Amino acid sequence: MASKSDNETRTGKLQNQKPQDQLSVSRRNFLEAGAAAGVGAAALSIPGAAAAQSRAAAQSGAAAQSGAAAQSGVPTQWDYEADVVVCGGGASGLVCAIRARDAGLSVLVVEGNFDAGGKMLHSGGQTSMGGGDPLQLRDIAGASDPKGYITVASTHSREELTDDIERLFTEWTDWSVLDPHAQAPYRYNPRGIQRAMAENAPAARKLLMDNYVQFARIRGSNPNSGISRARQAGPFLKLAAVTDIKAGTISREDAGTPGVRASHFAPIPLGPVADVAGPDTVGGGACMARCLEFSAREKGIRFMFNRHMDELIREQQFAGRVLGVRASYSPRRDPDTGAQLTSLWKNGNVEETRQTITVRARKGVMVATGGHANNPQFRSMFYPAMNEPAFPASTWAVLGPRGLDASGIIAGMKVGANLSGMQQNLGLSHLTYLIPQRLATRDAYSGELPGHPTFSLRKSSGIPMLGTGDFEHLIAVNQVGKRFFNEINLTKRAGLSLFPGGPAGGTPKAGLQHVPLDWRNCDPAFVRTMYQRHDGVHAALAMNEGSVAPNYYSGPLWAIFDSAAVARAKWNIEPPFTSLENGYFFKADTIEELAAKIKKGHEFQRVPLKYLAETVAKWNTGVGAGRDPEFERHADAPMHPINRPPFYAASIMVVWHDSYGGLSVNEKSQVVDLTGAVIPGLYCGGEASGSGNQHGLARAHINGFIAGTNLAKEA
Ligand SMILES: Cc1cc2nc3c(=O)[nH]c(=O)nc-3n(C[C@H](O)[C@H](O)[C@H](O)COP(=O)(O)OP(=O)(O)OC[C@H]3O[C@@H](n4cnc5c(N)ncnc54)[C@H](O)[C@@H]3O)c2cc1C
Repeated sequence: MASKSDNETRTGKLQNQKPQDQLSVSRRNFLEAGAAAGVGAAALSIPGAAAAQSRAAAQSGAAAQSGAAAQSGVPTQWDYEADVVVCGGGASGLVCAIRARDAGLSVLVVEGNFDAGGKMLHSGGQTSMGGGDPLQLRDIAGASDPKGYITVASTHSREELTDDIERLFTEWTDWSVLDPHAQAPYRYNPRGIQRAMAENAPAARKLLMDNYVQFARIRGSNPNSGISRARQAGPFLKLAAVTDIKAGTISREDAGTPGVRASHFAPIPLGPVADVAGPDTVGGGACMARCLEFSAREKGIRFMFNRHMDELIREQQFAGRVLGVRASYSPRRDPDTGAQLTSLWKNGNVEETRQTITVRARKGVMVATGGHANNPQFRSMFYPAMNEPAFPASTWAVLGPRGLDASGIIAGMKVGANLSGMQQNLGLSHLTYLIPQRLATRDAYSGELPGHPTFSLRKSSGIPMLGTGDFEHLIAVNQVGKRFFNEINLTKRAGLSLFPGGPAGGTPKAGLQHVPLDWRNCDPAFVRTMYQRHDGVHAALAMNEGSVAPNYYSGPLWAIFDSAAVARAKWNIEPPFTSLENGYFFKADTIEELAAKIKKGHEFQRVPLKYLAETVAKWNTGVGAGRDPEFERHADAPMHPINRPPFYAASIMVVWHDSYGGLSVNEKSQVVDLTGAVIPGLYCGGEASGSGNQHGLARAHINGFIAGTNLAKEA
């Protein structure tokens, strides 16, 4: 199959790459104010930062107009200027920034949050690339990492790790692979983009490794990242006396302690990964995010935090180049102390507190603002019931209410960008919206703990359930206090189509036996086998007596249990797992009192739980008879009465985790308009883009890599 994309990037070289000392970074530019010093250095001052250059409008050919923002929206004076402006300092943005900086460009990261890393910072960090990437080659050779921290052998055979670009491309577009919803997520991947991604996957992995990211042994693959080869590995650091990114080490304090304490470095404590690395190693997304951030700062990339990109500035709304961005001040504060939240590291930060500023991008703007999971209006385009604002995005606390607000996508649409891949929200629905097995916290997808500055926003880590079994100890009710589903099946989700596949994972055959593009992979008999839907999330979002015009919100959901359940299940319901102050956990001596407390104390409880006492009484009668006529739960698990005070209510959340679909891009990560024409100077990657339905990090990294490559080629 013909290649149309950036072959040269596989060698890590750009055709027009210049030596560092010949770079076209203007000496007058504030970005030349000083290369970043080591991590921990004081914030750099920026001589003349406010003296932004006004050449931009003239250079661009835009009409000269007076005032900061002329009628066309193109400023005559810009507040800042850089070769590349990256909006969003997460997975896609950091890689794009590093790639562009390596090619000698000046880069400013405009980040809406107070710290770098985005969702990547508290992700699991599991990254599927492949195509014969350097990790696959390392594990085939049985080699360790350069520092020798990996002391365990690969559990995969040579064959399972032997990969190439053709295979990767074929698999990422294999129409025959199903997921256990009997849907075919790979089928709808855009082919030109997937080709470019396959070709750039090995070099993108290399970039991560060249910028301090240490990967453990490969194990399996990520959702929708291929079915016949092992491609996924997670980042790790070695526990030591001090955190030293160059040495690949982290202190116990920065690593945190699972179940006890997190840190500013890692909002979720890093967990042991001895099975895939070696003794005293810990892993998690922070190991990757902090390494990339460290390297970016070291290379002289500048960060402007607390700065939300609101608008893309194009010569004309639907014509000409994208020239820069307009961005507003978006500081976040501790709700208890009022103190402003600040980034962990400060070197390379550009401090700017004006309400609105403009930033000129000489070569282009990268939209790497993540997805739309926290924008109920936007996401309800795909699932109307998810207009319910009670249900947030994963990462709600760390990124804040404006994180993942679709702002990058909307800004692109306003300058004429097309959208694509939107249906993939439904194709990967087991990772899009779901009910996590964590109660009593708003941010129920993850178990953040005290130690990270944003913990005060959530105030409770949440009660983790031990699988669906723990749900036998509670009943689940909707906003009017009625049960709505068999609790044991409530959080069950379809599996994932990933390596090693097999009958539970999207292919009739497992691992190496999988035959790509074979019609038997999705013949009617296999479809019937796969069609084992659990509709708990849809029942949870159903209308009920409390759903009223004009929005018909389904309302919040509550787990109701008693003190006997707490003792039986051995749940820890003390702080920091719960909080009696955040509106997501309540305790009372009677069910009536419990209902009243929920109504008073939860921000999205719009109606009284008028059926709650009746529901609990009915449940207890059913328990006595050993029957659950409403939802037939007696067939699945023991039933326990709810009759020993105190009684408890803990929130059950529907979380919109990842989002799929976004700005339409081509194989160079350039954004295209409704006619398919490139919007000059505008790039996009990661969850803000419609570049395909691979889960999470790898797509974001590879998109960022491709964007950085092509930004360096801009005239
Ligand atoms: C708990 C958890 C576990 C996960 N585990 C994995 C895993 O193991 N493997 C995997 O592949 N994926 C995983 N993911 C998903 C993965 O983290 C994301 O898909 C990935 O980080 C998306 O990359 P991105 O660059 O598109 O967005 P992000 O990494 O979220 O970065 C977007 C950045 O843009 C900023 N921003 C948003 N709007 C604006 C604006 N208007 N102006 C300026 N800045 C803005 C945000 O603050 C953020 O910093 C996980 C996610 C979570 C929450």
